[in-house]
Amino acid sequence: MLMPPPDQGTIARRSEIVEALRRIVPGEGVIADEDELRAYDCDALTAYKQLPLVVVLPENTEQVSRILKWCHAKGVKIVPRGAGTSLSGGSLPLADAVTIGMGRFNRILDIDFENRCATVQPGVTNLAITTAVAHAGFYYAPDPSSQIACSIGGNVAENAGGVHCLKYGLTTNNLLGVEMVLPDGEIVRLGGKHLDAGGYDLLGVVTGSEGMLGIVTEVTVRILKKPETAKAVLMGFPTSEAGGDCVAAIIGAGIIPAGLEMMDRPAIHAAEDFVHAGYPLDVEALLICELDGPAAEVEHLISRVEAIARDHGASELRVSTSDEERMRFWAGRKAAFPAVGRISPDYLCMDGTIPRRALPQVLARMQEMAQTHALRVANVFHAGDGNLHPLILFDANKPTELERAEAFGADILRLCVEVGGVLTGEHGVGVEKRDLMPVMFGEDDIKQQQRIKCAFDPEQLLNPGKVYPTLHRCAELGRLHVTGGRLPFPDIPRF
Ligand SMILES: Cc1cc2nc3c(=O)[nH]c(=O)nc-3n(C[C@H](O)[C@H](O)[C@H](O)COP(=O)(O)OP(=O)(O)OC[C@H]3O[C@@H](n4cnc5c(N)ncnc54)[C@H](O)[C@@H]3O)c2cc1C
Repeated sequence: MLMPPPDQGTIARRSEIVEALRRIVPGEGVIADEDELRAYDCDALTAYKQLPLVVVLPENTEQVSRILKWCHAKGVKIVPRGAGTSLSGGSLPLADAVTIGMGRFNRILDIDFENRCATVQPGVTNLAITTAVAHAGFYYAPDPSSQIACSIGGNVAENAGGVHCLKYGLTTNNLLGVEMVLPDGEIVRLGGKHLDAGGYDLLGVVTGSEGMLGIVTEVTVRILKKPETAKAVLMGFPTSEAGGDCVAAIIGAGIIPAGLEMMDRPAIHAAEDFVHAGYPLDVEALLICELDGPAAEVEHLISRVEAIARDHGASELRVSTSDEERMRFWAGRKAAFPAVGRISPDYLCMDGTIPRRALPQVLARMQEMAQTHALRVANVFHAGDGNLHPLILFDANKPTELERAEAFGADILRLCVEVGGVLTGEHGVGVEKRDLMPVMFGEDDIKQQQRIKCAFDPEQLLNPGKVYPTLHRCAELGRLHVTGGRLPFPDIPRF
């Protein structure tokens, strides 16, 4: 994986940059010591590491604005960072860029039950929002498995999802507003407590923009009343295909579960060994289906799901009888990634989305690919959304295993696109899928996306080297056909 060559001029100016940052963020807010920088040398895509030029930890929006303004004036690049749990290398540092860590933005600013929303700083963890509103029976719905650690700012930047997003939507469907600082230091607000904003949907553009358009300094999210009842059904199947077909049948029957997750045999065994959730070990596929709402509705839907599972040959069928048991069903799923980390020195977690009907075909093809690449794969995924998370197991200390794992991952993502799906469901493109963007988008599509980037960040100082396979200068993207020396529509601003 190639990153843009670092600018030696910027690296030579390191002491000047560190001094300027110290003037803006005094005290312990600037990290320049090599040993201390090591804590920031990667995110959760640990296959790639790079020491940042320097790390700055601002405490307020004004400091973020002054940092960006200074860097903009001096042409210094910036990598925004939340909790560093990105699985696509979105917050991977650059040797010639300042990493801005948003961890000190950790305050809940306002809880407004009447308007059913909460305003928080971007470094607040996803789970902390639910914790802050739980006393009144509310919660924040998108629940990435990393929710104990990942920041809401990072969730906005990646449009994070989770188990409950099938019914309640991803971050983008639960985000009402942000305050953000543009690359030149200007502070802007998009959206607010209200449900819709005038003009273009800029909040939608910013959600999932992977730290490339601005730095989010405040987030307002929708909070929901906890459902009256929630029950989960645990279903085991003798084949992955039967499990995949059952998923399609549940959704096809018009049922929208709160969550519908699937694990294959290697993932079931790893999770069971780790958290002892009581999973059956003699099945090839395990489904966890949660239904929530009024008690009578949940009972009715549970009986329908049970009937569908029986029709698809479920060999194991258990309905949770208490909240503790429901949480135990989920405990294995939620801990599946670290559980797989116990059975392999390294793994790559892929993230592609496919039409649900293609699940059995894709799972079968993936097993064939595992043989071709001579590597193991464990599957844990949001089956209801068709969002796959194949975990490719490898040992980085063995020659060629990382390269083989990357090639296997790329083949899986190509397959996702081939069957009508997309390159990413929730983890973002980052550096991981950057070079696969042309598999999904034509050159014109990519250029159009880059034009949006250029409208926010004409100098391309924010998070360069991520998402787009080729770096275009913004001026090149604006090239026009000029006839007779006259620009068409000369009054339109160009970049
Ligand atoms: C074990 C594990 C399980 C996971 N499970 C899920 C899951 O179920 N669903 C899911 O969606 N993801 C999951 N993830 C991935 C990850 O947790 C999410 O992508 C999360 O949203 C990243 O948040 P973060 O605070 O760690 O951001 P970081 O990793 O620090 O950054 C991610 C991106 O956001 C940008 N960014 C961060 N903060 C800001 C800001 N304030 N302003 C502008 N840009 C910013 C960065 O530049 C980068 O591009 C998982 C990760 C792990 C390690």
